[in-house]
Amino acid sequence: MLILAAARAATRRHGGAHLVGRANKKRGIQTATVTDGAIQQLASKPLHALTLADLCSHGRPPLSTEQLLKSANFTLSILPSRLAHRIQSLRALPYIVVANPNVSQIHNNYVHSLSTLLPYAERHIETLQDEIKFTEVMADLVETHSNTIAVLARGFLEARKYISAEQITRFLDEHLRARIGTRLIAEQHIALHFSSKAHAELSDHHETTEQSSYIGVIDTALKPAEIIRRCEATVGEICELKYGVRPTVVLSGDPETTIAHIPMHLEYILTELLKNSFRATIEAGMEKEPIDITIAPAPENEDWRAEQKRAMEKGSSAINSVADHDTSTADAASNTKLPPGASANIQPLDCSSPGVTIRIRDRGGGISPENHTKLWEYGFTTFNEDEINDKTSGTDAGPSALDMLSAGAAGGSSLAGLGYGLPLGRAYAGYFGGGIAVQSLFGWGTDVYLSLRGVGKIN
Ligand code: ADP
Ligand code: MG
Repeated sequence: MLILAAARAATRRHGGAHLVGRANKKRGIQTATVTDGAIQQLASKPLHALTLADLCSHGRPPLSTEQLLKSANFTLSILPSRLAHRIQSLRALPYIVVANPNVSQIHNNYVHSLSTLLPYAERHIETLQDEIKFTEVMADLVETHSNTIAVLARGFLEARKYISAEQITRFLDEHLRARIGTRLIAEQHIALHFSSKAHAELSDHHETTEQSSYIGVIDTALKPAEIIRRCEATVGEICELKYGVRPTVVLSGDPETTIAHIPMHLEYILTELLKNSFRATIEAGMEKEPIDITIAPAPENEDWRAEQKRAMEKGSSAINSVADHDTSTADAASNTKLPPGASANIQPLDCSSPGVTIRIRDRGGGISPENHTKLWEYGFTTFNEDEINDKTSGTDAGPSALDMLSAGAAGGSSLAGLGYGLPLGRAYAGYFGGGIAVQSLFGWGTDVYLSLRGVGKIN
């Protein structure tokens, strides 16, 4: 992961996006001036709604050079207009909101990323040297937009006076969904790059690539139970270190269930949900009651089979069409279209798994009806450091641990109690057609249902 490490180090050293630009020059990433005309022209293109089939359409790793170049060109064909759409929608916010330093930093990040892609616009990536440079651009894109959730959250918190809660939620829902997709497309190409025949020697895992269940960042045999255990360990560690208590998790249902999904996404969602349940459990002083997590694979039924059959006949997994685009400007007809050539290598989907529902049941006292209506607002939180400090028995609960308990994994410790866990978790779950539902028994506990739409097993 040389490129990733370089990009990461550069950002750590230099901070803001404009400085990443300077680091780019050192690493040889070219930039081009982003004019209003270029943004308008790119944003006028209909958005391509991403499907799982797109992400898998270049074949199973290890990719040949030809397949790798195809992936690069596919990535290049959709990213610039996605970035231009984001820039336009940020610019469409009331001026006083865009002028907020945090919001404007986000805007500048997008302009920067577009400036690194423009030198590639209007041409094809035809050589491996070109592809390496392009992958560096992808690494820079991923890095530039890492840890920006906290910045965005801060910006909108500060701008609250000038814009309604509904407007904020509408903007953020669209923005964050688009962000998930854009990162996914870039990360997919980076992962395919490292598992390609040409570059496998650079990867830490090249020996296992052949037998791996991964296609890029997608694990076609992902076991939710394993991710749950990992998240339990992380969140439990924080609780134990800082509060001296560690709620336990009892797994029930079918822990052997597998699903084709993106581990990073599932890890993000489950960390958020576990943080919420662990926090509620500790606040209620109910650590002795285990948090009960049930994994329930959905039964196959006729509707599911028929839907899958239709999707397979179309040559794409239509149910996985992603509604992450700006619906007001997207061309509806383009939603199911694949770019030229993208369907050529689509593997048939063995859709034996219609999905899985994970129920997380805690005895943390539930959610009041008044708060329940606000759960999906970005920024809604009842997090209060002092309160949780009082309720935990005299341990040295430093703010960083408190931050982490309430913070989002994406934003690390800086997303303290900003109330993004549930809405952003739902955006991730919704990406391939899943969702999150919260059922509270006020005074007793909460049931959270995370449903993951089976993205099918890819042969
Ligand atoms: P944050 O955790 O940063 O507050 P979230 O979006 O994750 O943001 O949650 C919003 C609010 O929903 C929490 O502050 C809490 O009041 C409530 N909540 C979420 N999950 C639970 C739960 N399992 N039990 C009780 N309250 C919960
Ligand atoms: Mg939370």
